[in-house]
Amino acid sequence: MTDQTPWFDPTTCLVGGRWIPAEAGTIDLLNPSDGSTLCQIARGGAAEIDAAVAAAQSAMDGDWGRMTALERGRILMKMSRLVLDRVDDLARLEALDVGKPLTQARADAVALARYLEFYGGAADKVHGETLPYLDGYTVYTLREPHGVTGHIVPWNYPMQIIGRSVGAALTMGNACVLKPAEEACLTALAFAHIATEAGLPPGALNVVPGLGPEAGAALSGHPGIDHISFTGSVATGAAVQAAAARNVVPVTLELGGKSPQLVFDDADLEAALPFLVNAGIQNAGQTCSASSRILVQRGVYHRIREMMGAAYGALTVGPAMEDLRLGPLISHRQRDIVTAFLDKGADLTVAGRGVITKSAPASGAYVTPTLFADVPCDHILAQDEIFGPVQVLVPFDTEDEAVAIANGTDYGLVSSVWSRDGARQMRLAKRLKTGQVFLNNYGAGGGVELPFGGRGKSGHGREKGFEALYGFSQLKTVAAHHG
Ligand code: NAD
Repeated sequence: MTDQTPWFDPTTCLVGGRWIPAEAGTIDLLNPSDGSTLCQIARGGAAEIDAAVAAAQSAMDGDWGRMTALERGRILMKMSRLVLDRVDDLARLEALDVGKPLTQARADAVALARYLEFYGGAADKVHGETLPYLDGYTVYTLREPHGVTGHIVPWNYPMQIIGRSVGAALTMGNACVLKPAEEACLTALAFAHIATEAGLPPGALNVVPGLGPEAGAALSGHPGIDHISFTGSVATGAAVQAAAARNVVPVTLELGGKSPQLVFDDADLEAALPFLVNAGIQNAGQTCSASSRILVQRGVYHRIREMMGAAYGALTVGPAMEDLRLGPLISHRQRDIVTAFLDKGADLTVAGRGVITKSAPASGAYVTPTLFADVPCDHILAQDEIFGPVQVLVPFDTEDEAVAIANGTDYGLVSSVWSRDGARQMRLAKRLKTGQVFLNNYGAGGGVELPFGGRGKSGHGREKGFEALYGFSQLKTVAAHHG
């Protein structure tokens, strides 16, 4: 691999164990750190998706479909080891492609290995049950794969999302068709090479890069797909669900959020500070579980505002390879979306700003991390997902008011409570309408073992942990009458 190019040919799709060019040719892949073209990638479309679905179905009917859970688990474990062997290569690819600081990109590669290890170890530990029934009967359940699963993955955490979704689907014996994002697909292709090297049979994993309205739409509406897992925007998620509904196909949607952290007067502020800031600026705020709202009780509001403002002043932004706290956003388009949000905050007070380093090229997709203070809870910056390094501070007086503000958006992915009062922690863990609640910590993106997913417009279904394995399988009930 040279400095800028991957060690494999990124202009091809993996279909049935063969790397093939796309009929429609290629598209440019951007390096968001400097705006240059990194390389060309395949522009897959309906033809490649058709071939990939057929190849996946053949795998289900062939060697892959007959493999035991133990054998599948061993392949996943081998994939995990090979990912660890190539951590530095994968991190470099992800940093160039997504613009992530190298340290974050490396953490993502390690997380991918961990997903494969966790699921690989679980492969032969997921089972059905025997059920009490009428006299003369034995009844039991079998956990079976859905069949061919579609995976539409965004650009913000390609390796982690592939790990949690494709990893779980393969573990349960499904054959996968993966459509990575057009903005970032190099580690998806690298992952496919590694999976092949680990002995995954042809057709068990197929990868078709391409544009959302072409390859993505072809996959979500394909009649040969038995389950779809989608991570991305609300609008596209709704379109994917509508397309799948026409084929009556189950869908898991993970659509981001407006996740709050609630800081009470009795909180340990020093312990909270790194979580309050990191959860907002990790991956330049392009994290589905980013904590973009910090709700603070009035007794400590000014102190938190000062502490977070100072922390923002120390944030540096620059090219991924310089490995500062933040890299660029994924694209100029995403930079423009975030800049438009910042403009909508022109009437607000700024409590802290980071610094874009002088060496960051003007042609890169950079924005200045910004912390707004005293933001009304109905302001657009306190309601809409921004997907950039922007956080708002919202003051509150009482616990009831905090809960009302926290639950007062369309989303419900993650929340956290900072308080030394154990009874309050327990109360709020029940009252907060989010898929995960953290007490005196915050886990943006963390926890392979922890079921993860949202309520409301954050989506439905759960990934990670054993819940993912249940989601990527279906239950069959067998009732035997033997007298
Ligand atoms: P998107 O939802 O359009 O793209 C995500 C994935 O869906 C990509 O692989 C894309 O190719 C695919 N896709 C796009 N159109 C499709 C279609 N019609 N049918 C099937 N698949 C399709 O997101 P985006 O445009 O890249 O980003 C826009 C906003 O989405 C961001 O500003 C952010 O708010 C949100 N987002 C959320 C997440 C998350 O992790 N929840 C990830 C990325 C983006």
